Amino acid sequence: MKYISTRGLSPALSFSDILLGGLAPDGGLYLPENYPQFSDADLSAMRGLNYRDLAFYILSRLIDDIPAADLKNIINKTYLAEVYGYIRAGQNAEDITPTLKLERNLYLLSLSNGPTLAFKDMAMQLLGNLFEYVLKKRSETTNILGATSGDTGSAAEYAMRGKQGVRVFMLSPHQKMSRFQTAQMFSLQDDNIFNIAVKGVFDDAQDMVKAVSNDAAFKAKYKIGAVNSINWGRIVAQVVYYFKGYFAVTENNSQKVDFAVPSGNFGNVCAGHIARMMGLPINQLIVATNENDVLDEFFKTGTYRPRGAANTYHTSSPSMDISKASNFERFVYDLVGRDGAKVRELWSSVDKGGAFEIKELLPQLADYGFVSGSSSHANRMQTIRETKAKYNVVIDTHTADGLKVALQLRNKDIPMLVLETALPAKFEDAIIEALGQVPERPASLNNIENLPQKFEVMDASVDAIKDFIVTKSQ
Ligand SMILES: *Cc1c(COP(=O)(O)O)cnc(C)c1O
Repeated sequence: MKYISTRGLSPALSFSDILLGGLAPDGGLYLPENYPQFSDADLSAMRGLNYRDLAFYILSRLIDDIPAADLKNIINKTYLAEVYGYIRAGQNAEDITPTLKLERNLYLLSLSNGPTLAFKDMAMQLLGNLFEYVLKKRSETTNILGATSGDTGSAAEYAMRGKQGVRVFMLSPHQKMSRFQTAQMFSLQDDNIFNIAVKGVFDDAQDMVKAVSNDAAFKAKYKIGAVNSINWGRIVAQVVYYFKGYFAVTENNSQKVDFAVPSGNFGNVCAGHIARMMGLPINQLIVATNENDVLDEFFKTGTYRPRGAANTYHTSSPSMDISKASNFERFVYDLVGRDGAKVRELWSSVDKGGAFEIKELLPQLADYGFVSGSSSHANRMQTIRETKAKYNVVIDTHTADGLKVALQLRNKDIPMLVLETALPAKFEDAIIEALGQVPERPASLNNIENLPQKFEVMDASVDAIKDFIVTKSQ
């Protein structure tokens, strides 16, 4: 299996070649040159598998340059019940992504039982083990540099801690994350993890990362890498739980299901699209946004109009406060018939801060199952309250975005799975606002704010971060 760029001008590469990089040299994103197809017989064979075996069945069709026995080992040490153990009452940690039935044909698909209580652990934990394996094979090392406002940075650090050949330099805005998020990251004492609190806002930290990455000589000399949301390894790992969720709520392969996906960078729902392209019987893929509704606008009107940082709202589902969906190009490539020239034309305007319109393709969107909706802060608060009252289940604000839109667009005769992208403990303040009570926290994290913290405070200076990386690389 080779991987090609959505812009059509980069050479086809193997999985291991694209794993450690970011964008393709032509500015596009990597996708498999074709989607492996699962037949009815495949689906029947997959139906009874546990998460690890299911992951191997799917990933071995997309990753063929890692020997099967090694890939199996990597998967088997990643998806363990003890790593994804923050389950709800009545769920089985062995399921890794268990479902929770709210009522007939309405389920949560729990993706947030990993170490940082958000769905990003599902992919990032696999990425950590894949990185370590590929780097060792190639006798290489990498310095991962990133900026975070919360979820991505902690998921990356918990996945990369202690990994051979990997150092992580994670920039975050000084004193701007929640106490819990700060404690999660800064309490890590591993020698290969460096937390850097930047005196500024998230965009200042992000600009520092961009400046370092744009310095080609520095980037090459210090082997600067990234684990951002466009990484194909993350997308591919996420395909698995769509299958797992489907088998959990259906009895045979003639049934279809709907998925509702709280979306920001379009990474999670892009994996759903790929699962569908591989033959998973999905009816609707529901893209749920918050007030940052660029994707909702596209799926309703055919106009994609990304917004700048100044026009991105800070909401109570902060991990979806994104107005430029970095993975969206992957879907558009399929939508325009895998025509790289057409994608280049569309993004020539997006890359300059503009928009594009493909109204003529609106009818085709339905062929791909996509529909969309958005929610407001008031909607989320109400959804959290109603879910507690009706089902005695507390959900977080991101999951509430998904459930709100799911209830609007649902066909009650078809099973609906709402992806639970974070546990409520991660967003305490919003839960207190909605319910007047503190959400339950896994007992092992009760004391996390009181643990010793390891971090550096730094001016928002590109030279300062470069010097720091140089010093720590010796
Ligand atoms: C990252 C994140 C999302 C958005 O996922 P995308 O892949 O960017 O669409 C939604 N909810 C939570 C809790 C997240 O951390």
